[in-house]
Amino acid sequence: MCGIFGMTGHKDAGRLAYLGLYALQHRGEESAGIVTYNRKKAIYYKGMGLVSDVFDAKTVKSFRGDMAVGHVRYSTTGSSLAKNIQPFLVKHKRGYIVIAHNGNLINTIALHDEMEDRGSIFQTTMDSEIIAHLIVRYLNRGFKGSVISALSQLRGAYSVVIMLDGLLIGARDPYGFRPLCLGKLDGAYVLASETCALDLIHAKYIRDVEPGEIVFIDRGDIKSVKPYVKQKSALCIFEYIYFSRPDSNIFCNNVYLTRKRLGRRLAHEYKLDDCDLVMPMPDSGSYAGIGFSQESKLPFEFGMIRNHYVGRTFIQPSQFVRDFRVRVKLNPVKDVLRGKKVVIIEDSIVRGTTSRARVKTLREVGAKEVHMGVSCPPIVSPCYYGIDFPTKRELIASKRTVKQTGDFIGLDSLQYLSLDGMLKSMPLAADKFCTACFTCKYPTKLPKKFSKSILERG
Ligand code: AMP
Repeated sequence: MCGIFGMTGHKDAGRLAYLGLYALQHRGEESAGIVTYNRKKAIYYKGMGLVSDVFDAKTVKSFRGDMAVGHVRYSTTGSSLAKNIQPFLVKHKRGYIVIAHNGNLINTIALHDEMEDRGSIFQTTMDSEIIAHLIVRYLNRGFKGSVISALSQLRGAYSVVIMLDGLLIGARDPYGFRPLCLGKLDGAYVLASETCALDLIHAKYIRDVEPGEIVFIDRGDIKSVKPYVKQKSALCIFEYIYFSRPDSNIFCNNVYLTRKRLGRRLAHEYKLDDCDLVMPMPDSGSYAGIGFSQESKLPFEFGMIRNHYVGRTFIQPSQFVRDFRVRVKLNPVKDVLRGKKVVIIEDSIVRGTTSRARVKTLREVGAKEVHMGVSCPPIVSPCYYGIDFPTKRELIASKRTVKQTGDFIGLDSLQYLSLDGMLKSMPLAADKFCTACFTCKYPTKLPKKFSKSILERG
């Protein structure tokens, strides 16, 4: 997953991009980058780590130009390389090309091989570099034509913000896997992964960029095209379950309220007679937890408190604290939990290892019974469209029954929300979503061979 941001026609575009990335930080903590453009020169600021680590006050003050493109990147451990930081920037004889990409392409290998055969040389392992090469290949069709032709070659998931020598472009793949919204501030257009980025800079939300749509923004002027064959939409349901911020409206609907509905429905499906309290796994389980509590009439308590100041740490945890990684982030409230029968509400279980460690902590401080309700069905299949799920082998639900998963985590009982229950809690019709991680039904054909970059999420 990643967060993307673009702005044009505003004297503070760079600084606003910096704030926008702050709001999108949850979409990627690995690296951050901003390219500013003053209609003559593009300047690149980037680094590994959080937005607050990468840009200092002096840098932010030095931003010049009325255009900016920003990116926060999420990647798996193996691809934590400085050369893969986005946005991707190249200078071409026709001007600068800047690309910020969220999603994952599934025809990377085919495109890569074909382009190398034609003489392209790649500097990174990012999908975004492929997009830049394609744009350059078609530049003789004009800026707009080149983008339309380049994106037509891509298969899989992409929401992109592109800057092409003064033209700002936003696009979503025809399935619409990943979100992208359009806003306006002081007459200037803004593109962002989530509406929370618009909120922070006081931009007005205008609408979502639609699946298969490309918007071309030339200062205050916007043109939209939908040049591709229409596909059945496949919005990522996991954006609602876990990924997006609860204060965002994703795919035109609020995330917080959707999570609460998931929790309410879970309460219908998971009947627990004599529990003392409902506690969420903060923060992601909190909203479903509220819904569960309201519906089940069990009191809602925070049994674990999140430390919001956890950054990178340089001590060797194992020498000091056994379960450092769990405890540094979430600490149990002993006096709330001691002797109590608790039901934890969790948004999802992936490997099961984090939940196992947390349940152990709850038992150590004296919780009498520990049950868990999960506000989505078992995740049984990897995502090829940009959510960082491990391989099938590592997904606990792909190899264990619910009972076995509960035993592994150390629970008295475990229940997932049913597929039907999840879909009925959504603000949009069931057939609008990609649910491949729960059903193994992928909305696109999958190539036989995936590139390494499938693990290097954009
Ligand atoms: P685990 O118990 O190890 O399966 O971890 C489950 C936790 O990971 C849940 O609290 C989720 O909020 C969180 N989670 C869900 N999806 C992802 C993901 N793609 N990457 C990282 N964490 C995730």
